[in-house]
Amino acid sequence: MPGGTHHVLSHGFRGGIRPHDHKESTRDKHTARLPVPRRIVVPVLQHLGVPNAPVVAVGDTVRRGQLIASAGDVVSAPIHSPVTGVVVSIGDTLTINGAIVPAVYIEPDPVQEWDGYVRVEVTSVVRTVRAAGVVGLGGGAFPTAVKLTPPADSPVSTLILNGCECEPYLTCDHRTMLERPASVASGARHIASALGASRVVVGIEANKPDAVDVMRSAMGASAEVLMLATRYPQGAEKQLIHTVLGREVPHGRLPASVGALVHNVSTAAAIADALDEGKPLMERVVTVTGQVARPGNYIVPIGMLVADLLEAVGGVIEGAGRVVAGGPMTGIALADLHVPVVKGTGGVVVLPARSVAPAIQGDQPCIRCARCVAGCPMSLEPYALGIYANRRQWDATDRLHAMDCIECGCCAYVCPTNRPLVQLIRRAKQVLIERVARP
Ligand code: SF4
Ligand code: SF4
Repeated sequence: MPGGTHHVLSHGFRGGIRPHDHKESTRDKHTARLPVPRRIVVPVLQHLGVPNAPVVAVGDTVRRGQLIASAGDVVSAPIHSPVTGVVVSIGDTLTINGAIVPAVYIEPDPVQEWDGYVRVEVTSVVRTVRAAGVVGLGGGAFPTAVKLTPPADSPVSTLILNGCECEPYLTCDHRTMLERPASVASGARHIASALGASRVVVGIEANKPDAVDVMRSAMGASAEVLMLATRYPQGAEKQLIHTVLGREVPHGRLPASVGALVHNVSTAAAIADALDEGKPLMERVVTVTGQVARPGNYIVPIGMLVADLLEAVGGVIEGAGRVVAGGPMTGIALADLHVPVVKGTGGVVVLPARSVAPAIQGDQPCIRCARCVAGCPMSLEPYALGIYANRRQWDATDRLHAMDCIECGCCAYVCPTNRPLVQLIRRAKQVLIERVARP
């Protein structure tokens, strides 16, 4: 109902926080394409699972959309060249998360035919989505084809499209809904048909009323478009299911166990690209914002270095502090800007130096104020998890359900003594995962 009244569905999940959204400098900027970068570094591992195998050699000419690394196993996704150019090297690269992985180095032709690309063969929904290398664009980068095939004993009746974009600063999903609503709607239809879902719900936070209007028009009677409270982490999978359906995903189970599945709105648009246009996932919209000369939303080729991206938007400006890949709540602070944008990179945020000052001063002991407990949307005890992780008492972190932590960062955000709670809990989770994996 465009222009109609907006009823805000009050948040149904426990905890959470309300940080300033900082979206004002990019939310009204139309998505723009940047000039051809001088180099492209495409990592062959951008997903869970094993690394892909490069299928090109040094000296090869590659075309935009051409397969350059084939999927290694079922939870990986193939990778395609985002530009037409020449493979100049195949070697290692540092990635955003600090790993060193193999990559295909491409020197792009100075002139690109952006409308032309090598098409993927369109067959069934799942096969095409897999061939196009589509992964979750909300940050998780989980291969979408795998998510489209839930276990046979857990039928999915409700598809929830996540248009919350609850991370501060990021507006790439917002702009995708405004600029490509027909693609999001088409993607939703493809997903619903693959899953056999009879109900489609689009959840959008109340700070994007224009997107609610546009998506209501685009979806028509095929979906309910709900306006949800602006409350971080409203867009986290389990929290969104709880808000929309009032159902709690049990400990250790998948959303399909409660008959629901969540896909990001930008992922839906990428699915439509694959099925309607035969277009592989080789570029994405990235919000570049904070202390940069020209904040905005940009179509960025996968493999463009963050350093080149910042230069292309006029560089950083006075007062720049830490550069974060992703949003400030769940993103990764970059020590080296010569790392490539990957499929899961929704934002590059240059935080102001003043906002990172407390973390630089270091953390202090826990004063047992319990603010982190009140803020945790997973009903955990972050202070205790932090203390046990610090003492390397991994069994105790397991008893306190460290594995349920969704690494949302609410606890660290509210902690008055700047305890590095997420890093500590993440370490505990790594140790617990390694223990299970060990024979
Ligand atoms: S413990 Fe995990 S889930 Fe809970 S607030 Fe902290 S980061 Fe979020
Ligand atoms: S918010 Fe920080 S200081 Fe307060 S209980 Fe949690 S860890 Fe301790």
